[in-house]
Amino acid sequence: MMLELDDIDGIGPKTKDLLKKLKINNGLELLKFYPYRYDIIRRSDLQHLMDGSKIIVDGIIDGQPAIIYINKSLRKIIFRINVKQTILNVTLYNRIHMYQDLKCGKAITVIGKYNKIKNTIIASEIRFSLLPPNTKIEPVYYTTAGLSSKQIGKFINNVLYSRYIPDSLLPKYIEEKYHFLSISDALFNVHIPKDILNLQKARQRIKYEELFIYMLKVRYLKYKIEESTSAIARTIDDKKITKFIENLPFKLTLDQEVAVKAIISDLKTNKRMNRLLQGDVGSGKTIIAFITIYVNYLSKYQSALMAPTEILALQHYNEAKKIFSNYELSIALLTSSTTAKEKEAIYNDLAKGKIDLVIGTQALIQENVHYKNLGLVITDEQHRFGVNQRNNLKNKGTFPDVLSMSATPIPRTYALTIYGDMDISSLKMKPEGRKEVKTCFKKEKEIIDVLKMMKRELDKKHQVYVVAPMVEDSENSEIESINSLKMKMHKAFGKIFNIDIIHGKLDNKEKKTIMNNFSSGKIDILISTTVIEVGVNVPNATMIVVFNANMFGLSTLHQLRGRVGRSDIQSYCILVAKESEERLHILEKTTDGFEISDYDFQNRGEGDLFGIRQSGELGLNMANIKKDFKMLQKAKEDVDDFIDILFTSNENDQYSSIMNELRKIENLD
Ligand code: ADP
Ligand code: MG
Repeated sequence: MMLELDDIDGIGPKTKDLLKKLKINNGLELLKFYPYRYDIIRRSDLQHLMDGSKIIVDGIIDGQPAIIYINKSLRKIIFRINVKQTILNVTLYNRIHMYQDLKCGKAITVIGKYNKIKNTIIASEIRFSLLPPNTKIEPVYYTTAGLSSKQIGKFINNVLYSRYIPDSLLPKYIEEKYHFLSISDALFNVHIPKDILNLQKARQRIKYEELFIYMLKVRYLKYKIEESTSAIARTIDDKKITKFIENLPFKLTLDQEVAVKAIISDLKTNKRMNRLLQGDVGSGKTIIAFITIYVNYLSKYQSALMAPTEILALQHYNEAKKIFSNYELSIALLTSSTTAKEKEAIYNDLAKGKIDLVIGTQALIQENVHYKNLGLVITDEQHRFGVNQRNNLKNKGTFPDVLSMSATPIPRTYALTIYGDMDISSLKMKPEGRKEVKTCFKKEKEIIDVLKMMKRELDKKHQVYVVAPMVEDSENSEIESINSLKMKMHKAFGKIFNIDIIHGKLDNKEKKTIMNNFSSGKIDILISTTVIEVGVNVPNATMIVVFNANMFGLSTLHQLRGRVGRSDIQSYCILVAKESEERLHILEKTTDGFEISDYDFQNRGEGDLFGIRQSGELGLNMANIKKDFKMLQKAKEDVDDFIDILFTSNENDQYSSIMNELRKIENLD
């Protein structure tokens, strides 16, 4: 049963809107809105107070507080507090409205900072009650303007005390195996911790449940795919494939050959292909996509190639036209900027089977796209699409084969777990003749060096990317915006070189024009946000400068670096940050994406889930795939055992909530 926000005590229409801003839409989501940290409220020991340390004391107001006027805008309340016969001074700035509640003899708790010489607490918080006898652990929640952490906590308590507790998604025997808290105890303790031990136990249980369900979904997807033998029977003329490959402008690398072999063998069996092709930027995944498309075409089926952005879709389209110029294969581009009329024509042709390959963005998976006989779906940079989206595309035809390409390679052990529903091909080596991108770190104050290095490349008629984390200036003046960079670059280079900017807020047409101008060399310096991150290919761009590099995850930086080094010219990547960080030096040492993500895993880098399935779609609110990887592996083992139990169990009733959860990913419409 769903608990609506309206049915929770204390939540009116206004609060409801605020909660929605935090992506909380119902009682269950409120319960799963876990604290991001906890404050420990423990009475300070007066004997051992250090100057400047945090202090929490409770006692009785001693004498009448006074208001002191410091100047027009600054006033303070001062008073004394008697803490078990010890007198301390308290100063409270700018909280004059509290004056009337601060009466002599009142019992209060003061939280603040202690000044030893003046024996004074600079109070940050006053509470009108004494402290509980034992240490109290207070949850702190993310907030939004108009809604405090305390209020959120109160709503959650209301839900908890109304006994609205979701069903456990762990089988009983697993709860027992690990002596987990019950789901109810876990939820209570995570929001209202009894003590540290119970809080830890609660977090263990909740994380484990999330990871267990995640692995179960992965396993279930695999099962579903194995079960659905493809209706596609292919007769493939191997000679034609060989010929096609021989006619390519280059020789395949060994890794590419191995991947192609695996794919062809997938296509020949009547099991549905579900393969992940992972390889660093520039490792040559696109050509493998085209070979796969060609094979699918030979067996007379349509192919769809889906890219995460219009720019990339267009790039693939141009590339495909080149590669297939001597073949009959007909190709269409379908994106959101395709006109309604063109779209209509493409839809028609797809339905009639006049188009062999359609390349596009999300537009490809919209309701009104019908294929005559879709046999192959390829998604580029697959992590950009949700599981559900991919399912949509898969089921437009009769069980098409699926190839997902990812430019954020992760080491095999991790990949096997996280992408356990897929077969995996990895491209580890780069095509021959590539020079490694030289990477160096520069401090912000060495900006002159950076400009000089840029000038050297620009003078050679090469082009340069400049990247900043944000579009507009923010209050945090330490963060470079592309607008402020634009001014700096104009000052340094504006007279000699052409400079332009690109970012996500521009419309698609503008973006396309700018990218075309950069491709054709009309722009020398392109300043951007991470829009250029994925897949863009401009071989004459030989330098990328990333400002505030410390704000990006390693794999994002590695991706950005992949924008250069796309020809046999030596390329450079300059990482600029205020302070040096060990993390960033890893990028100076290696250009191997597998090694970089390995480092990321070992060091459990946070906030950088790029390339790994999006946490949102995984339902991971507390667990973190990287930090909790060991636990994830445990969950995987348990899932392997449980899946048999689940499918052979006659009394599925006891697992009905688990089955419900699994059905969510089926979504077969
Ligand atoms: P990514 O894996 O990042 O998608 P691409 O497919 O864009 O890489 O390949 C990068 C470049 O390398 C392209 O210009 C492509 O034509 C070229 N390329 C791919 N395979 C080879 C190869 N075996 N030998 C030489 N160049 C290759
Ligand atoms: Mg690519």
